[in-house]
Amino acid sequence: MKDPKGNPWTAAGLLVLGAFAAVLSGLRFASMRTAEPVYPGPDLTRQGRLSDYFPALAGTPGDTDVYVFEGREAGGRVLVTGGSHPNEPAGFVSAVLLAENLRVAKGKVIVIPRANASGFTCNDPQEANPQRFVVETGGGPREFRLGSRLTNPVHQWPDPTLYENPAGQMLSASEVRNLNRCYPGRPNGTLTEKIAYGIMELIRRERVDLGIDLHESAPEYPVINAIVFHDASAELAALAQMSLQSEGLEFRLEASPANLRGLSHREWGDAAGIKAVLIETPNPVQGRLKGRTTAALVVEGKDKAYLKASRLGRLFIPYDEKGVPLSERVARHLAGVAAVLQSLAELEPEKAVETEGLPGWRQVMEKGVGVFLRTGPSMSPSSRATVPGKSGRR
Ligand SMILES: [Zn+2]
Repeated sequence: MKDPKGNPWTAAGLLVLGAFAAVLSGLRFASMRTAEPVYPGPDLTRQGRLSDYFPALAGTPGDTDVYVFEGREAGGRVLVTGGSHPNEPAGFVSAVLLAENLRVAKGKVIVIPRANASGFTCNDPQEANPQRFVVETGGGPREFRLGSRLTNPVHQWPDPTLYENPAGQMLSASEVRNLNRCYPGRPNGTLTEKIAYGIMELIRRERVDLGIDLHESAPEYPVINAIVFHDASAELAALAQMSLQSEGLEFRLEASPANLRGLSHREWGDAAGIKAVLIETPNPVQGRLKGRTTAALVVEGKDKAYLKASRLGRLFIPYDEKGVPLSERVARHLAGVAAVLQSLAELEPEKAVETEGLPGWRQVMEKGVGVFLRTGPSMSPSSRATVPGKSGRR
């Protein structure tokens, strides 16, 4: 009788199959470390890296692309960051959309789509999150990474039991890898603190007037659909909220608590003395009440569990069968950025920033965000590859 357990040939066959599966999944896993391309629009003035401002980041997983758009006319200087939390896709995609469409007539806009580049190379553990999501564009599907809230532990390890952040606040262990708790950073600190320090250096060297940090939060979390503002930016934020309201977009105003330290808007305002706000949209893959997490949920934002939670009054946003699609969340971010820039121009006309080429929020909601993302490199100006002033920097 034949041995039902097989023979050396079946063993060899299974080994080959196993090796094949391991190689395939290994390649897929390793590809998480490769950032998807961003295709800046033809009006990009220059593309640099965060390490241009803080050389210690060069060659580390914390270094990231910086896109600078400068108008012919002098005006204000604005920094927009997405991807401070790489598990909040609308913040990241909004920054990509800005980098791919922006034209600046007056002033300067600096865009960092992946503020914590390391967090894009892993997932949040125990969340069963998809590695990627797909946005349909005019030229076909475009894949983006769904990353982790925190710096990849492979890049920064181990976490301390308690973490005293650079602003002197004691936090729980893993917050040591949360970029939005590590400001104003430390030049000799952890990788995350170095990224924060690099962004502070950029703010100082580019003499940034206003910083806008794009985030998302869970639908059951109260700080949502909100503009969070530093004390010195209260008027700016209130004016922006009023103009958004007049357009039919409701945003909460949230004052940044003075004793909650290490956050972008708090420390950009305190340590660099700039105006600073943080914009939050609702992210259905981030909370605890969500159902199964899929790539479709990232993009379409429809979840039966959230619908039930909404009917039970557990959510801080309006939520119905239409869900909260990525396009709507990106539209809200763009509207928020436009309103804050408009307020800056009204309050301090010499710091006005005039942008062109950006779709209106209604267009993004109606046509979908994919229509406004590029599918390949644009005809680039010759200045694309150069980083003026880089050689002069220490
Ligand atoms: Zn966030």
